[in-house]
This record gives sequence, structure tokens and C-alpha cells, in this order.
Amino acid sequence: MPRDPRYDILFEPVQIGPVTAKNRFYQVPHCNGGGYRDPSAAAAMRRTKSEGGWGVVFTEQCEMHHTSEITPFIELRLWDDRDMPMLSRMAEAMHEHGALAGIQLAYSGINGPNLYTREVPLAPTSLPIRTFTNDPVHARAMDKEDIRDLRRWYRNAFVRAKKCGFDLVCLYGAHGFGIIQHFLSRATNHRSDEYGGSLENRSRLMRELVMEARDAIGDSCGVSLRLSLDEIVGDLGFANAEVRDMIQMHAELPDIWDLAHGTWEDCSGASRFKDEAAQQDLVAGIKALTPKPVVGVGRFTSPDVMVKQVKAGVLDFIGCARPSIADPFLPKKVEEGRIEDIRECIGCNICITGDMTMSISRCTQNPTFMEEWRKGWHPERMNAKGDSSTVLVVGAGPAGMEAARALGERGYQVVLAEAGTDLGGRVSRECMLPGLSAWGRVRDYRQYQLSQMAEVDIYFESALGAEDILDFGFEHVVLATGASWRDDGVARFHVTPLPKTGDLPVYTPDDLMAGKVPSGRVVLYDDDHYYMGGVLAELLVQNGAQVTIVTPAAYVSEWTNNTLEQAFIHQKLANMGVDIQLNRAVTALSEGGVTTACSYTGAARDLSADAVVLVTARRQNDALWQTLQSRADDWAEAGIKSIKVIGDAQAPGPIAWATYAGHRYARELDTPDIGDALPFRRELAELGAH
Ligand code: ADP
Ligand code: SF4
Repeated sequence: MPRDPRYDILFEPVQIGPVTAKNRFYQVPHCNGGGYRDPSAAAAMRRTKSEGGWGVVFTEQCEMHHTSEITPFIELRLWDDRDMPMLSRMAEAMHEHGALAGIQLAYSGINGPNLYTREVPLAPTSLPIRTFTNDPVHARAMDKEDIRDLRRWYRNAFVRAKKCGFDLVCLYGAHGFGIIQHFLSRATNHRSDEYGGSLENRSRLMRELVMEARDAIGDSCGVSLRLSLDEIVGDLGFANAEVRDMIQMHAELPDIWDLAHGTWEDCSGASRFKDEAAQQDLVAGIKALTPKPVVGVGRFTSPDVMVKQVKAGVLDFIGCARPSIADPFLPKKVEEGRIEDIRECIGCNICITGDMTMSISRCTQNPTFMEEWRKGWHPERMNAKGDSSTVLVVGAGPAGMEAARALGERGYQVVLAEAGTDLGGRVSRECMLPGLSAWGRVRDYRQYQLSQMAEVDIYFESALGAEDILDFGFEHVVLATGASWRDDGVARFHVTPLPKTGDLPVYTPDDLMAGKVPSGRVVLYDDDHYYMGGVLAELLVQNGAQVTIVTPAAYVSEWTNNTLEQAFIHQKLANMGVDIQLNRAVTALSEGGVTTACSYTGAARDLSADAVVLVTARRQNDALWQTLQSRADDWAEAGIKSIKVIGDAQAPGPIAWATYAGHRYARELDTPDIGDALPFRRELAELGAH
């Protein structure tokens, strides 16, 4: 189908200094947890974006000098010439399908603890390092010589970046992560010389660095300034009004203004807390202050919203990080009139956890993300069909739906059997919970794709037993029967069931999701530590309960530190009147309440309650698997070549783990057994001389 003319405006070329982007789709810099450790994996991921039609594709933050680095987080490096080959590979990959290649050069200043290089961090003013990790390290204040050094280091990095083949260099000063912002903000710049005080003085370094870039590479490379629209750190911070004054003052300085929200937590706000186009008010009107193009983000997945941003004169480029991860082919799908095929980001921030845990990023919606090189997976193309023909998928949660979709794409005849009356499994239940409606997109994308596939038949109200499966005679059977929340308190703190006397009503998340919501005084015991406890506390309050959260962790919803949601969750629950009791475990259930104990000292106290909700762990629904396994001798006679169990039914995990499991099953069906070989490619550090 040709593209809908109302989207034409998104495909207009736009000039950025000496270079021109072929359209307005701009993949802003984003981390991926791979960085310098997995350069080819990162390069292939960027190549896929280029293939998917993005006009501009950027690297993640690239540490431009060894005197500033953010270990333990894994980003790119451009410390000397030896880093250039990996970055050249990246630029080449970005160019392969016509995108402009951009590199984000970061000097982290007061944000870089230098745990690896052991250099003393440099900053406008001497203060403790400001990072997620509260490292016990100070930065020292830069003197004039340091500033001259920094300008030279930047210049060297610009020249190297150009030699690597990049068309755009971005000076990173957003999210509180870059030294440019540290100079701009009165919170971190207390200087009294010509680099501190007035706005003009605080922006002097920024101006000098941009001029350095222009002078060194400006004839052929565009220069981007990436800044926060509002630092959001209280009265002293670099707030939106001052950002506007600064842009007016330096209206023609960069070739493009790349405006991010505030802190990273704000900018990459999860859908639970931030809607699409959430930064609209902060960025509106800025274009009128500068003749240079403006790019901004806002978890844009809807082409109509994108068009509105351009037509209303808010943005020139549609900046996307997460939407480009969930669907690297988003621009191509708009161009080809395939809007329904867009795999929309759900705003869960699982991708960010890859960076925060220094592992490698994954995406709930796009299981191929960061597997493009490691496993040779392409987000829009499956491998060819193998020798078999028929597959029965049992269970239509995220694992089963993704398996059926991907198997159908490979050309297998697939039957998807679901015990219930609708698709989506846990996703359909969870997306009804407060703040999680966007998560339904995991189901919606797959539901539409399945509806377009002649190869896949779906049967509802088909709770299959072992006998049914042996009777059907499919060549392959995959069980994706999910998991159920435990009602005995077993998880991390308790590895055996909680002692219980009396008849205090006990609820699980499954009960609440099925509409059985207790009222009165409710204790919610969270030994799961991800989103569920906090979300259910909200639900309980909405239903009029008086809620106390008890958790053995030091933070409520502790693991959401990795999705950048933790502070928002605590704030929201506290504002809702939830009593948050940290570092305590529920140790017994009794008539009229629970006993809790300090995680450190064991000091116990009683807490009255009318009901308790146990958000602890899930148990796999694998009875069917156990029965079929015990009848393995009957498989061959039934015509069955393989039976596998995947997703939550194998081992409960986040939804991203389930879509990955479904995808992997589909990819690997009928492929040669690799035995004990490593199932992915990796890169090893080159050994130095003895
Ligand atoms: P996952 O996250 O691994 O995809 P879910 O719990 O979301 O798991 O989904 C499992 C799905 O499997 C649910 O929709 C459930 O109704 C279905 N299911 C469970 N047991 C059977 C069965 N024996 N036959 C058919 N469907 C089943
Ligand atoms: Fe979006 Fe979640 Fe994928 Fe990140 S992991 S791109 S937030 S769907």
C-alpha cells in the first residue's frame, strides 16, 4: 500500500548544518547495555534501525576521554585511536540503508565516578559525585588549564568521530549526565569566574565546545546539542524558563537542538507515569526562539501524534528511543501504509534494565533487540521453514502468542489452543491494573498479526489435557501454560510456607486481578519486588482499603530502580496514604493480623489487619508438562517429534522473558542441534602483550 498522504510531512528531508536527513524520523541516542563490550551487537542493532527507515540513527553515549567514565555502566568509548575501529563499524552500519550516522560524545563530569580509570573527576565546582550509585567520590573544581584541556580533548574526539565516518556529533548535556549541563546549572556550578554566575557565563563552556566542533569538523558534520528541558532539581536547577533564555541567547549555536525532558527518569518515563508526548508543554514554543531545527522525544508511537508535533510547529524531528527499539521498522511501516503492523512500545522500560544491570538490553515487544548480531535475528524476517509442518501451541499468553505468530511467519501450520475465551493470558489481566493499560499492546500487536495469518488457527475454551494432545498427533507441541501466584508466602525471605493460625483472609494477585479485592485494613506483603506489589496497593486504595505495604527490601518495588520508576512509585503510594514499612518481612499470619520482623534484627511486632495480600512468587502451571513427560514413551506412536515447555510455565519471569521464549522456540524449531556450543556470538577482549 502507498503511504497515507497525511503522513507525507514526516518524510520531508530536513537539513542539519552541512548534512541532510532524508526524513524526520530521528533515533535519539539510547543505551543498550552492550556498549564497548558488545560493539558488533550494538552496530547490528543500529543497522536494523537504518534498514527500518530512520533518517538519523545515533549511538548511545560515548565517553570521549578517559578522565570521565561511568563504570559500572557499559557505554561506548572513544579514548584513543584504538577505539576507532568499533565506532567505524557502527557508523558504517548506520549508513548502510541511508541514515545519517550520529555519535553522542559524553563527558560526564560530576556524574562520572571514574571507578575504572581512577582519575579524579572534573566538574565546574567541587561536590560529591552525583550518580545512581552514590559512590563515595568527589569531583574537583576545574581551573582554566583544565578547561583548555577539556576543549582539546573534545576537539580530538570530534576529529576522531569524523574519521570514523559520523555525519553528526552530539554534545551531551542532558539528563544531568553531561558536563555542559553541569556548567549551565546553578545547582552544580558555583563558580565566580567567567564560567559561573550569569547565564552568559555559565553557557560559555558550551559555546566554546560547539565552536571547537565547528572549527574542527563543521564543514562536513552537523553539531547537535542535547540538553534537558528542565533539570527538575529544585530552585537552583536549570529550569525551563532559563533553558528558553539560553536557547534565545545562543539561537544559532548548534546545527540542531536535541531537547530531552529532565532527568533520565523523567525523559524515559514509564507509561505507568507518563503519556505519549509528555514533554509537550516544556518544548512548545522553543522553535520560535531559534532558526535551527528542534528534535524532541515523547515515546511517540502514533504517526498522527507525530504529524501533529510537526504541523503545530513544536518539533522538526520526531525523536524516538524506545519506539525505535520496540519497532525498528516504524518509519518503513508508515511509509508503506502498514500502520497496523507497528509494534508499539508499551513503556515498560525493560530495555533500560539492560543498561542498569550492565547485562544487555532486551525489549518486551521486540524479542530480537540486541540479538541481531548475537543470534542473527531480524525483527521483520524469520528463518525459512524447516522439515516439519504442524505445531500445537498450548496457551495464548505472551509466550504462546509470540510462538504462534513467529511460527506462522516461518510457514508452519499452527494451532493455538487457549483454555479461556480471549488472547493475551497474563497481559490481558495485568493491563486492567492501574497504570498498565499500554501493556495490552503486547497482546494487540500479536492478535492483529495472527488474524492476518492463514497458517494459524486459534481455538478458545480448549483446556487441553495430556490425552487430547496425544490424540491430536501434531508433530511438535509447545506448552505455554503460564504460572499462578502462590498463596503460601514462599519467595525469597521464606523458602517454606508462612506459618498461619486462625482464619485471616489471604489473597493473591490472581485473586485481585479476578475482581476479588479486599477492603478494610489490608497488609500487602511484597517479596516479589517488581511492579506488582505497588500496582496492587494502588488498586486496593482505589477500592477503599487502608493499605500497609511490608517488604523485606530497603525500597518499595525495589527492582523498579532498574526501570527508573522506583521514586515515582514511592511518591505515588505515599501520596495515596499507603503506609510503607521497609526492611520488614511478614513472618506469621494469625487471627486479626500479621506478625512482622525487621529483616536485620528480627525484632518482631504485630500488625492488625482484616486481610493480607501475598505478592511473593509464582508457581509454574506445568501439570500438563509433567504428565506428558511421564508419558514420553507414547510420543512417537502419537506422531509427536517434540514437546517443549516455555515461558512462565517453564520458569516465571517478566513478560519480556515470555515473548523472548516464544520467539526463540519458533526460531529454533527444526534447526540443527548445536549440542553444548554457545547459542550466541560474542566478542572477546584482545589480549595485550605479556
Ligand atoms: P506466559 O506469560 O508464559 O505466556 P500466561 O500465564 O500469560 O503465560 O498465559 C498462559 C495461557 O495458557 C493462559 O491464557 C491460560 O488460560 C492458558 N492455558 C493454561 N493451561 C492451558 C491448557 N491446559 N490448555 C490450554 N490453555 C491453557
Ligand atoms: Fe518499549 Fe518496553 Fe520495549 Fe523498552 S522494553 S522499548 S519500554 S516495549
